[in-house]
Amino acid sequence: MLASERREKIKKLVQSRNSVKISELSELLGVSEMTIHRDIKPLVEEGIVIKTFGGITYAKNRSESIKRSSDDCVLCGRKVDRRLSYKLILPDNEVESACCAHCGLLRHRQLGDQVIQAICYDFFSSTTISALSAWFVMDTSVDVGCCQPQVLTFGRKDQAEGFVKGFGGRVLSFSEAIDKVHVKMACCKHHGRG
Ligand SMILES: [Zn+2]
Ligand SMILES: [Zn+2]
Repeated sequence: MLASERREKIKKLVQSRNSVKISELSELLGVSEMTIHRDIKPLVEEGIVIKTFGGITYAKNRSESIKRSSDDCVLCGRKVDRRLSYKLILPDNEVESACCAHCGLLRHRQLGDQVIQAICYDFFSSTTISALSAWFVMDTSVDVGCCQPQVLTFGRKDQAEGFVKGFGGRVLSFSEAIDKVHVKMACCKHHGRG
């Protein structure tokens, strides 16, 4: 079977079943899992499927569901301002929006492995970045008017560092930030609701 034929079969399968395991595809199509990974790469790049742990999920309505997702922060109920928002992409095209990286990281920590993808916006350019590769600035003097302690997101480390030079704070990676915001919240009872 040609790679393009397999790809069509994979597409049909994931469309009808919503999610399929790589090992299952390998068995069904009689090729190695490595070949399946190669086959699904273009499908992932086109946004037709989303890679999950050990499998793929159909992503047809992903962009729609991002648009449709609620305007209120999933954690604190504040109105979500796109520029500061942090979106969590979950299985079955579910999307949760948080008002800022502060709530986003806390929610991300709660959901853990359920999160397929997390999206936030670069503080300078407002372009979309993956939260996992973003740089987080905490304890800065600039007040963006959302939750305390504030967490700002940057796509580039040098820009985050430049920002900190001007306005104070600290630059953290995703794994550092998700721990830090949790620790900080544990000793701070107030969580700006409303
Ligand atoms: Zn919030
Ligand atoms: Zn917030």
